[in-house]
Amino acid sequence: MWRRCAPPESPTRPSTTRRARHAAEPAHEGGQPLRILIVEDEPAIAAAVAASLAAEGHAVDTVADGAEAITWAETYPYDLVVLDVILPSLDGFEVCRRLRADGFAEPILMLTAVADVDARVTGLDHGADDYLAKPFAMPELHARVRALRRRQTAARSPRITVADLDLDPMSRSVHRAGRSIRLTAREFELLEVLARHPGRVFSQEQLIDAVWNADFDAESNIVEVYIRSLRRKLDGGRRDGLIQTVRGAGYRLHADPGTEP
Ligand code: CA
Repeated sequence: MWRRCAPPESPTRPSTTRRARHAAEPAHEGGQPLRILIVEDEPAIAAAVAASLAAEGHAVDTVADGAEAITWAETYPYDLVVLDVILPSLDGFEVCRRLRADGFAEPILMLTAVADVDARVTGLDHGADDYLAKPFAMPELHARVRALRRRQTAARSPRITVADLDLDPMSRSVHRAGRSIRLTAREFELLEVLARHPGRVFSQEQLIDAVWNADFDAESNIVEVYIRSLRRKLDGGRRDGLIQTVRGAGYRLHADPGTEP
């Protein structure tokens, strides 16, 4: 599928396969669909893993190069990375090490043909969360993804608090200054992306990617429409708006809406 935009640091459009995300449908494995980056340079394996995860309702991107993987993981808000070890430009161990050094906190599942203990230890030492030796059966990959997701959900702070805004991703409830706010599923997802990274500016393309995946083009005003609706619900006439427009760049959640940045 055609990719709308390349990540900002990437001079060329990455060669990726895009799978449609069906966020409105529950994933077959239970729970919320995940945004998964697959880093694998063997086209047949990449395609099989992508198709299998997409069939469970997850949103999947694939890249075939180590350096490209870092750019993508730092540009889009992935929930999980499936990372091959032997890759062009940077190997999976180095990709893992650099992502962790840069603060990437989501689970990383390493894939490799090297099933020996040394490689497994190296992967875990570089910050991988789990390890799957090739060849593997798809049900085992799915089981590892489920286990990593459970671990991540348990480790993650159950609530997100930014200024007087409070989000509970488990119950999908939202309060501002103690007032309960009802949001649609998409509005909640959009707000959650912004609230997990207060102060960080997200472009319209990044928000479309995170919330709607690939079904809207960059010309669509879908983000604008949802931001307007979120502001109406969150601010309720208050002047200290939580969501800020950064002209020419995108939107961010203002961590301290009482002041101008
Ligand atoms: Ca490989």
